[in-house]
Amino acid sequence: MVLGPPGAGKSTQAENLARLLAVPHVSTGNLLRREVAEGTPLGRRVAPLLAKGELLADDLIVEIVLARLGEMGRSGFVLDGFPRTQAQAEALERWERSTGLALDAVVWLEVARPELVRRLTERGRSQDRPDDTSETVRRRLELDAELTSPLKDFYRARGILLDIDGSLPEPDVTELILERLRGARRS
Ligand code: AMP
Repeated sequence: MVLGPPGAGKSTQAENLARLLAVPHVSTGNLLRREVAEGTPLGRRVAPLLAKGELLADDLIVEIVLARLGEMGRSGFVLDGFPRTQAQAEALERWERSTGLALDAVVWLEVARPELVRRLTERGRSQDRPDDTSETVRRRLELDAELTSPLKDFYRARGILLDIDGSLPEPDVTELILERLRGARRS
């Protein structure tokens, strides 16, 4: 799993890892944006939330993600954008217990807030992400600080957290993660 605040490089790193480890990349953000773009009933329901930077209800996102992970079976995956709340993390833990599958590692990407704001504002300009406007950037960082970042301690307590400096250049971050994953497997 790749965890960290918006703008820390989760998707980029999750994509790199999925490619290098030859497993699927499960991104809740991509999944939801696809539903919105295709105008599905789910997409129409969640579009206003995405546009405002608000989170979907835990029950809904848990149902969507667990259905997806169920399809992956035992082949492994890189999870990106989930969980974002304690309730989601607990639902995932129940899923792990019921399937006998366990997360190998949680990659935490640490990036200082001024750098996050800079990156998100830049991304809003260059990538046409409607949720990267200054108001939604502020809201997403606020939700992250309140609900998602505390999960770092949850996974540290489980002993599977890899604390990574996400401010380094992209290839260095990927290399660092792979190195730490190899180390975690050995220990
Ligand atoms: P992301 O691309 O991961 O930043 O996700 C984009 C948006 O999708 C978020 O701002 C939320 O509106 C929604 N979203 C993605 N993952 C979750 C989640 N685990 N729980 C609730 N909402 C989510």
